[in-house]
Amino acid sequence: MPHDEVDLFVIGGGSGGVRAARIAARHGAKVMMAEEYRLGGTCVIRGCVPKKLLVYAARYAHDLADMAGFGWTVEGARFDWATLIANKDREIARLEGIYRANAEAAGVTIAATRAVLDGPDRVRLATGETVRARHILVATGARPALGPEIPGCELAITSNEAFDLKALPRRILVQGGGYIAVEFAGMFRALGCEVALVQRSEVILRGFDDEVRAHLAAEMEHSGVRMLCGRTIAAIAQGPGGKTVRLSDGLEIEVDEVMLAIGRVPNTRDMGLEAAGVELDQAGAIKVNAASQSSVPSIYAVGDVTNRVNLTPIAIREGHAVADSLFGGKPWTVDHALVATAVFSEPEVGVVGLSEAAARKLGRPVDIYKTGFRPLKATLSGRQTRVFMKLVVDQETDKVLGVHIVGESAGEIIQLAAVALGMGATKADFDRTIAVHPTAAEELVTLR
Ligand code: NDP
Repeated sequence: MPHDEVDLFVIGGGSGGVRAARIAARHGAKVMMAEEYRLGGTCVIRGCVPKKLLVYAARYAHDLADMAGFGWTVEGARFDWATLIANKDREIARLEGIYRANAEAAGVTIAATRAVLDGPDRVRLATGETVRARHILVATGARPALGPEIPGCELAITSNEAFDLKALPRRILVQGGGYIAVEFAGMFRALGCEVALVQRSEVILRGFDDEVRAHLAAEMEHSGVRMLCGRTIAAIAQGPGGKTVRLSDGLEIEVDEVMLAIGRVPNTRDMGLEAAGVELDQAGAIKVNAASQSSVPSIYAVGDVTNRVNLTPIAIREGHAVADSLFGGKPWTVDHALVATAVFSEPEVGVVGLSEAAARKLGRPVDIYKTGFRPLKATLSGRQTRVFMKLVVDQETDKVLGVHIVGESAGEIIQLAAVALGMGATKADFDRTIAVHPTAAEELVTLR
């Protein structure tokens, strides 16, 4: 094969792109991958991984507060944001190195440059070079939405910048009510910031079970987050003492930072997609079929750029499936149903399956089992927090349709609940399971 011809050209070195490139190369394909920024993509560089590290840092604040009830005296504990950010950066650089080493070890050629389509089977690099490709995979991810232009909007940051703030803001206003907004609001609050959360609807976490949404909102409010729902930011102005934010209802708040977390936009702009014949949807995402193939047969797309289920493990699965299907002789597709998810809010949310509202919408009768309780740890610590758990069960088949948890380790617990639901577990299966005692998770098998 000539030097400028490959079997697969991957545009974007994030979770989905790197997985596809590595697997395709392992199947013997000649693979080139272009990344204009840093290998690892949103998840590793400015998403899941650094976010979880910041969340861990914040949770030590809870531990310190809890310790007194268990007999500990902690004196002189202090938090230093600069140390956390420097350590986080070091870890991210290490992970980026591993991504690069793994891809190169698999035989992938990495081009540290922007690449755009130059037709259905050709890619043009920013260096001017063009590469002919039998197949092209677009895995360019998404970027934070900036919302409508309002006066002073340039004064706001997004999660991208929040990871690299020079100092911990004393006061921060976060706009949005999705994963990113509630995770950052919880993290900043636990680290001692004054936090206001501005959300355009009356409730946070659209799409989640209504009781989960209400429980988390109440817990956040209780932790001291100022929940300002049913409003949006109307204007931001820089004043001598900070940024003055005017909300749609006229309320004015002065803060040090304003962070927008109002969704994400697929990275499809100026990529030559339309010229190559690739169809986009109304949100600018690449339209694909179950095999992640676009409207142009040689062009595939995986991950957030397709705006299906925007989660790292999904992008990885989709990339793996494309590589196996094209070069491994064993085509398969990703099942987007029953995807468990966790929100690393304070407290954490873990969910798999249907919400009560979604289950009722199917028109089948459902039974609801739920519980709320003070976790054992909080009895001695005195912390005012409650766990919430809920099972949505199909009345006729007894199948568990949804598991919903708000509380410590919800993300860890929900992973195994997802295995059970994937196997079609019934409520009787849950009931037959002996409890692990004393845990919070045991409530899932003792709900009557
Ligand atoms: P989401 O789509 O989850 O939430 C967007 C939020 O912003 C909603 O509350 C929405 O309100 C609000 N909003 C949307 N447009 C506007 C607007 N113009 N003005 C004011 N508010 C607006 O987006 P995120 O940015 O939080 O996260 C993006 C995606 O990233 C998530 O959907 C998830 O797939 C992924 N993610 C996953 C994580 C995890 O797995 N733990 C962590 C972080 C991100 P409304 O409710 O009214 O629609």
